[in-house]
Formats: sequence, C-alpha cells, structure tokens
Amino acid sequence: MDIKKNDVFELTIEDMSESGEGVGKLDGYIWFVKDAIIGDRIEAKAMKMKKNYGFARLLQVLEPSAGRVKERCPVARQCGGCQLQMMDYDEQLKFKERKVYNNLKRIGGLENLYLPGEDLSGDKNGLSAAAEQKPVVMEPIIGMEEPWRYRNKAQFPFGMNRENQVITGFYAGRTHCIIENEDCLLGVRENREILEIVKAVMNQYGMKPYQEETHSGLVRHVLIRKGFKTGEVMVCLVLNGKKLPHSDVFVEKLLEVPGMTSISYNVNTEKTNVILGREIVNLYGPGYITDFIGNVKYRISPLSFYQVNPIQTERLYGTALEYAGLTGEETVWDLYCGIGTISLFLSQKAKKVYGVEIVPQAIEDARENAALNAIENVEFFVGKAEEVLPQQYEKDKVYADVIVVDPPRKGCDSVCLDTIARMGPKKVVYVSCDSATLARDVKYLRERGYEVERVRCCDMFPMTGHVETVVLLEWKAQ
Ligand code: SAH
Repeated sequence: MDIKKNDVFELTIEDMSESGEGVGKLDGYIWFVKDAIIGDRIEAKAMKMKKNYGFARLLQVLEPSAGRVKERCPVARQCGGCQLQMMDYDEQLKFKERKVYNNLKRIGGLENLYLPGEDLSGDKNGLSAAAEQKPVVMEPIIGMEEPWRYRNKAQFPFGMNRENQVITGFYAGRTHCIIENEDCLLGVRENREILEIVKAVMNQYGMKPYQEETHSGLVRHVLIRKGFKTGEVMVCLVLNGKKLPHSDVFVEKLLEVPGMTSISYNVNTEKTNVILGREIVNLYGPGYITDFIGNVKYRISPLSFYQVNPIQTERLYGTALEYAGLTGEETVWDLYCGIGTISLFLSQKAKKVYGVEIVPQAIEDARENAALNAIENVEFFVGKAEEVLPQQYEKDKVYADVIVVDPPRKGCDSVCLDTIARMGPKKVVYVSCDSATLARDVKYLRERGYEVERVRCCDMFPMTGHVETVVLLEWKAQ
C-alpha cells in the first residue's frame, strides 16, 4: 500500500467498528474513519497508520449511504458523543442487530441463528450442515419510539472562553477542550435552563469556573439528574472548594425550575479527572430524588449509580424477566448485580434472589433499595462473582433454578462460567453490553451442556455504537 500520512484518497465504508467508526478496506489495509457510515463513498485523509490498519479523517462524503441523514445537533462531529447521529435511526437498529448476530455466529459458533424476519427456507447459512439444530430466530431489537432526550443524567464541565466568559458544554472527543453546548439532544430539556441559571449567578458575582492548568477557580462541573417517572430534578455543583458563596441565590433561582427537588454541592479539590469527590453538602431537599423501574422505587443521590436510560432499562430487564420464565417458586442468582436493579425486579416473581457484586457501595444501595420497597426475599453478597459463587456452591451447595449475569464489557470470568455449568441451573439469562465477550461466553456454556433458545437486542444508547443483548440459554445435557 502506498498511502502515506496526510495523503487524500477515496474509500467505500463497508462496516462499522464497535465504537461506531466507519470501516473500509483498501488493498487489504483497514481504515477507520470517524463520522463515516456503512454505504458511504468518501474522500478521506490518512492521519495515523499502524502495520495493518490506520485512522483517516472524513474530508467529504462523495456518495452518501442510503441511511445517511443530517445530524440534528450542530456540534455532533466535534463532540463525538453521538457516533451514529448521521445514520437514520432504523438503520442504527439494523446495524446493531447485525453486529450482535455476526458475533454470535462467528465467535459463538451459533450456525443456527437467524436475523429477525430472515427467510428460513433458503440455505444460505449452510443449514444443511446444521440441519439437526433447531433454528433460533432473533427477536426484533427493542428500539425507542423517540430516540432523543433519553438520558436522565448529565455532567457538564465549566470553563472559560477566549473572551473570559463562563462557558459550559462537553469535552471534545478525548480532549479536555470544552465544546460549548447547553442543549445536548440526548439530555433532558431542563438541563439548559439549569445551566443558564448557574452561569448567570456566577457572572453576577464574578465566580470563576475551574481551570485545570492552574488548579484555580471554583465551579468544576454541574451534575443534573431527573426521575423520569416522578419528574423530580436534582442539581449538584461540583466545586474546587469547601464552600459555595451565594448559595442562597443559587437555591432561590434553581427552585424556579419545575420539579426541582434536590440541590447540593460536592467538594472535589483534587487534581483529578474524576468528576465527583466524596463529600456532599446539602443545600435544599432530602439529598436525593426518587424514581421507579417497573414498580420498584429507587432513591438516587448525587453519588448513586443508576441506569441512565430508564425507559429502555425497564424493557431490557423486562426481557430478562420474560426469559427467566419465573412462576414464584424459583431460586435465582443475579451475578454482577450492581445496585440490585435486576434482583429487585425479579424478586417479585421468584421465591428467592441472591445478588453478587464487587463494589461494596453498590451493595449498600441494593440493600437500602430492597428495604425501601419492603422486599424481603433478596440477599446480597459483596465480592467477585467468580469467588462468591464457587465458595457458596462448595460450602453450602447452594442451588439455582435460574442464573442471571449482567457483567461489564470484559464478560464473565471462566471460573464463574464453570461454576454455573457445574451448578446446572435450568436457565441462564445473559444480559450483555458487549456482544463479542457475550459470544465467547455463550460458546463456553454451549460446550458445557447449554443451548441458546432466545436472543433479543435492546437499544439503550441511541445515536451511539453501543447495544445491549439478552440471551436465554437452557440446560440440555443429561
Ligand atoms: N445489573 C446491574 C448493572 C450491572 S453492570 C444494575 O442494574 O445495577 C456490571 C456490574 O458488575 C458493575 O456494577 C460492576 O461493579 C460489577 N462487577 C465487575 N466485575 C465484577 C466481578 N468480578 N464480580 C462481581 N461483580 C463485578
């Protein structure tokens, strides 16, 4: 290949990467191009090159993909938070579904898998070879009717522009340069009003935003959360200092925002990229907002973990519940349980649910949430799934009818999977945010007596390259 750095060349985009970049091939060499989508014919500039692949910049779209639409957000390209905004939403859903399908087929070895609506009579999947295997047709991906303004949480950094005015927005790509934008289309409408109030009060009293280079200035970030079912809104200012001057003015003005329930500030005086410090000082309200997933109630404080797309979370966990097929008699283990969202959701239809999670604070929240809802048939363990489960199994011969796993991107530890297979629950429900590790783990479980029965994707993060998947595996070996 004779393309060198800064050369300009034409390329057809044939695939998309996990992180939503367009992927094209030229003479066997692979190019990743941000902002280009499948089907685009583009002009690109070579930026950075490795042995087998390189990164290029999109200069212009020569022939747009049929799925290309105009970005709604004026700073979509600079911000980089929405990698797929230039792709029609139905195309995004198809792309995500295909990604999961390809991984389950190639890595998971699921020859008998079909896309939703795929014609089973043809033999293009080499079904004759796999004829004795029952076909598994993926259920249609669960998309959003309105794929905008779905995020219940936003954290806006504050800074100064060249004219020394206070600005807020998002960090561009992986940099620390703030792109001004107060109305992210993935966030709630209240964000804008809140940011304007905070900026106005800062300007009125000459309060300075934090400057990273000099570790000076006061206001670092503003965290905003909203309970979608309750309409309750929370604001937490993150400060490089222990006091918020004119806090009474902030409170008075912020209370004009409908739904304002909780106002506080967080102390973070460290030189760090971590947004929140440990200390919260409450200025107004109970220190938390309330929200529901299904009919389970949650108390959300500035520091709590909570799923950012509550509408799709309910649908995703609803799918997990449906796949678990509970009758009220089952013992369920929920591994990687976080704050216990799945455990509490399932507990209403199960005899007993055990949750395992590595972060102690998350388990504290899980226990509090159980108490808040008067749910008594759940028990939580702090520890690694791959340690707690085998210990419990060896020691107490614990039993499971259903095991649910919802691991981080790296998937399940093989010791964990091995223990699951030895325990032999009738059903394993795998909730995954990374279909490559899902497929690897599915292969492992299939080699140990499980078979895939149902597969469904859920779009938790429209406009981004992420996709969640739920897989039901059933015990088949005698
Ligand atoms: N279902 C959860 C979210 C799961 S995200 C909820 O709704 O809250 C994955 C979780 O796995 C995270 O909370 C992470 O802290 C936890 N985790 C990561 N590695 C783990 C391990 N080895 N054992 C147990 N939990 C782990």
